[in-house]
Amino acid sequence: MAHGTYDVIVLGIGGMGSAAAFELARRGRRVLGLEQYSLGHDRGSSHGQTRIIRKAYFEHPNYVPLLRRAYQRWYELEQLQGRRRGTGCGCLNIGTPDGTLVAGVRRAAAEHNLPVENLSAAELRRRFPAFRFGDQTVAVLERDAGFLAVEDCVVGYAEEARNLGDELRPNAPVVSWKMDGTTVIVRTEGQDFAAGRLVVTAGAWAGRMLADLGLPLQVRRKVLLWFGTSDPAQFRRDVFPVYLTEQPEGTYYGFPVLDANGHKVARHDGGQVVTDPGSVDRTVHPEDETDCRNFLHRHLPGVDGPCRYGRVCLYTMTPDEHFVIGVHPEHPQVSIAAGFSGHGFKFASVVGEILADLADRGTTDLPIDMFRITRFQLTARPGAEK
Ligand SMILES: Cc1cc2nc3c(=O)[nH]c(=O)nc-3n(C[C@H](O)[C@H](O)[C@H](O)COP(=O)(O)OP(=O)(O)OC[C@H]3O[C@@H](n4cnc5c(N)ncnc54)[C@H](O)[C@@H]3O)c2cc1C
Repeated sequence: MAHGTYDVIVLGIGGMGSAAAFELARRGRRVLGLEQYSLGHDRGSSHGQTRIIRKAYFEHPNYVPLLRRAYQRWYELEQLQGRRRGTGCGCLNIGTPDGTLVAGVRRAAAEHNLPVENLSAAELRRRFPAFRFGDQTVAVLERDAGFLAVEDCVVGYAEEARNLGDELRPNAPVVSWKMDGTTVIVRTEGQDFAAGRLVVTAGAWAGRMLADLGLPLQVRRKVLLWFGTSDPAQFRRDVFPVYLTEQPEGTYYGFPVLDANGHKVARHDGGQVVTDPGSVDRTVHPEDETDCRNFLHRHLPGVDGPCRYGRVCLYTMTPDEHFVIGVHPEHPQVSIAAGFSGHGFKFASVVGEILADLADRGTTDLPIDMFRITRFQLTARPGAEK
């Protein structure tokens, strides 16, 4: 017997789910949000202090209109709560002129008329002396970029959702869901719940919660590290932006020094494939440090202190590294947002709006065609448990 009847159940209250729960409540929907851990926890993909936000999107120019909307909606969350969630410090994109990163940033900026500044190798050295790169390396600086306080954003949307009457239940793992006619029945360990719509925002667990679809999602273990610096003044956010750099050995990114833990740095590509996100190794081991330490030694020699802090986080990759957002191909009552491929957080604010549109009317005016579920060969597993 299902308990309570809701307009919408949101499965997973992380980055995307918290924003969706908020937007649905604002539209007057009766919402139940189910989260397996606490709100703002550190076992999924939305933790670790900061997330880069930028608009000149090397991944594809089609993201830019969504980013414009995402920025507006982050500012709106700040207004609602009277607290800053984002910090503008600029983003420096560093690589060779014909590399994916620099060429991609320039292309997105040109197509969407975004202000960016091209820096030669010599200008990069002069303007940002903390970096060491050779003469083949150039940079593109985007000023209208920076970072979001990731946990505060999740908790902020959850708070606003609750203020509007959403019922958000932490420590409520969903075991499965099924259709009963046009009603969705969601089963937790203790209870069943019924709703007219289901929004699946399960992050690294999306493959499991949508096993009937057979989405080609791969979860990867990613490590974030904080290193001490000899001269923190060089890494203050007024002189040191967030950066991304594409190097022959890999793509790395980092942040200004924000506190006593020092410089936060991580590698974007690669990562150990995870079969069970619930039991991933969350300890940071000395061998997790080596790769970033080598990068810093070569390119940011002022970051030479001890590793003071580390977190393990999860990427959920799709084969083309673009998101999966849409309505379930067999059940129009169910909407999905998954496969954010390590670059989704900055979009959470607008994804909340998209998911509310999909739950309300099965479609959205925001441009999400690139994220079609059916672009992949789906390998549905007959009888697979959701
Ligand atoms: C190390 C790292 C660095 C990153 N850097 C950036 C960056 O700089 N900029 C950027 O834009 N993006 C970045 N990303 C990507 C971004 O953080 C993710 O794309 C985004 O957080 C994904 O949000 P989500 O809501 O899909 O997942 P999550 O926030 O993990 O939310 C999913 C939620 O669903 C819950 N859940 C799952 N299954 C169940 C169940 N059965 N029952 C109940 N609850 C369930 C989970 O517990 C979780 O809370 C980074 C990611 C990582 C890991």
